[in-house]
Amino acid sequence: MFREIDEKYFYGGNDLGAVYSKEETVFKVWAPLAEEVSVRLYHKCTEEKPYRRLPMTKGKDGVWTKVVFGNLDGVYYTYKVKYCGLSEETIDIYAKSAGANGAMGMVMDMEAVNPPGWDNYKPIELESYTDAVLYELHVRDFSIDESGKFCYKGRFLAFVEGGMINASGDKIGIDHIKELGVTHVQLMPSFDYITVDETAVHKPQFNWGYDPMNFNLPEGSYSTNPFDGKTRVAEFKRLINALHTRGIGVIMDVVYNHTAQTADSCFTKTFPKYYYRMNGTTENGGYSNGSGCSNELATEKPMVRKYILDSLCFWAKEYKIDGFRFDLMGLYDKDTINEAYERLHEINPNVILYGEGWTGGASVLDGRLACMKHNARNTPNVGYFNNDFRDTVKGNNFKSKEKGYVNGASGADEFIKEVITGRIPHPQIPNLNKYAWTDTPAQSVNYVEAHDNLTLWDKLYYTNTTDSIQERIKMDKMAAALIFLSQGIPFIQAGQEFLRSKPFPGGKSFDDNSYRSPDAVNSLKWDRKSEYKDVYEYYRGLIAFRKAHSAFRMNTKEQVAANMRFLDKLPRGVTGFILTGDNELEEIIVFINPGECDVTLFAFGQYNVYVNGEKAGTEPIGTIEGNYVVSGRSVIVLGKIKAEEPCVPEE
Ligand code: CA
Repeated sequence: MFREIDEKYFYGGNDLGAVYSKEETVFKVWAPLAEEVSVRLYHKCTEEKPYRRLPMTKGKDGVWTKVVFGNLDGVYYTYKVKYCGLSEETIDIYAKSAGANGAMGMVMDMEAVNPPGWDNYKPIELESYTDAVLYELHVRDFSIDESGKFCYKGRFLAFVEGGMINASGDKIGIDHIKELGVTHVQLMPSFDYITVDETAVHKPQFNWGYDPMNFNLPEGSYSTNPFDGKTRVAEFKRLINALHTRGIGVIMDVVYNHTAQTADSCFTKTFPKYYYRMNGTTENGGYSNGSGCSNELATEKPMVRKYILDSLCFWAKEYKIDGFRFDLMGLYDKDTINEAYERLHEINPNVILYGEGWTGGASVLDGRLACMKHNARNTPNVGYFNNDFRDTVKGNNFKSKEKGYVNGASGADEFIKEVITGRIPHPQIPNLNKYAWTDTPAQSVNYVEAHDNLTLWDKLYYTNTTDSIQERIKMDKMAAALIFLSQGIPFIQAGQEFLRSKPFPGGKSFDDNSYRSPDAVNSLKWDRKSEYKDVYEYYRGLIAFRKAHSAFRMNTKEQVAANMRFLDKLPRGVTGFILTGDNELEEIIVFINPGECDVTLFAFGQYNVYVNGEKAGTEPIGTIEGNYVVSGRSVIVLGKIKAEEPCVPEE
């Protein structure tokens, strides 16, 4: 049935929702099978009765329209949509803001709340995705802990609080992010999600936010007044502006793969079943549940795809968002994702797109079309989380005690080469060529820790309980070195740079799924930055070193094949590779020694040391020549300065 609807009623206009001007607001909703649609206007989001009820008129493309004259800035609205004789009231799926708990949309002048300097923003320039350094952060975690004396705890506005320090005098908050040197902050869901009750924000509540309610407006519980739709928009823009003015890009974590509600969602009330994938060949087979959350959006249907594309472009234009991270991207069809890239690239040529190349359950989407990691070549401009990297470096993500390369697994040497290349084909790793899933490092998001599962530090506790903290810190630093010195896009979770931990009370067991755990588990503990200052400085130094050297940021498999050579005849357990083609250094040599014992190597000629087990940075920390030692559980990076070009006198 829906196929006929798509053919007969596809609507390509870019004016769905409430289009505001000072003189009039035009309401348009696509509902080709609805029997009756009206728009209802309210002064406040807490009112029970609308002050106006206005019938809408259906056009031949299935779009219902109503023009309301006058300035509706700040007016709340809903639609009442009738099917089979029954009317249900719903928020507009295109609503740009809302009252508390996202039940009513708001008409508003979006420009009027732009912060000062908003229009001066020039997007962060990238030659390739591999120039980016990604930092995943939850809005509430950022500022809710007592170790940070923020005025706006847990709110968007904590990001505008510059000059913050912890009890030891170290920078925290946005100044910390700037000091660390990451290029982009990836905000965990900041669109409107359902679980946190926005009318009771004083009560302790927490959720990651992967339970979408309204895709086109910011979450209310992060604003200082969820009851006023303008506040959340204004304050989210101020957060973005604060990062932008410090030269940091903003990536949104988007969750168009499902909605928190199914039968009661705004999509269902607007057009029952159309927006979702259904089992079987009719509309009566039940909802496909590839998200593991009761439903999945049917991205391949023309008007669903249009909705997702409209939404992405809206965030990119209205909020100047620099990139998008797609949750459960395996539930999207490739055409939707490729078209998203085309459309967003037109708006911002430096946009970054990447996602999770898997699903949360079985989906009815044709597997050949799905944006699964093994299909990555179908979407060449989109990155994929490299879970092979994650599991090889620290051990299986789902088996807490299983070790990986840095924490003592035996036989991981061959696998580590495969992930250092960003999982692309390499002439020295014939095995890899069979199952490399991409040809370009820019498709590999290299990480060992994200919001899901145990943090790296907690995982190391389980895998290496009897080792000392000092030994586990060595393992953590090696994992960090692998993230920043491998080909691909480096990604860390906020706080990883000071050994983030999510302990249950007692501190001997750790939360591996903290999606609704209390702040005590989830929040960033800013005191840890000072407690583990050495680890923090190591991460910061690695980021700076990577950013200074193009050899770590190659973009094609040909470049990697020509400029990255693994070394043989090394002591047992040691992995080493040489990089050439760097912007500054003649050659860069990286050795990784995951064993407990020191090894002695020999250098032909003199090299500067930029990274060892202790320190990392852009300035040499020493020089070596002939015999030198690589400490147990450490990485060393050597660089040879380019010979001076002979000076040719001008004629
Ligand atoms: Ca909400």
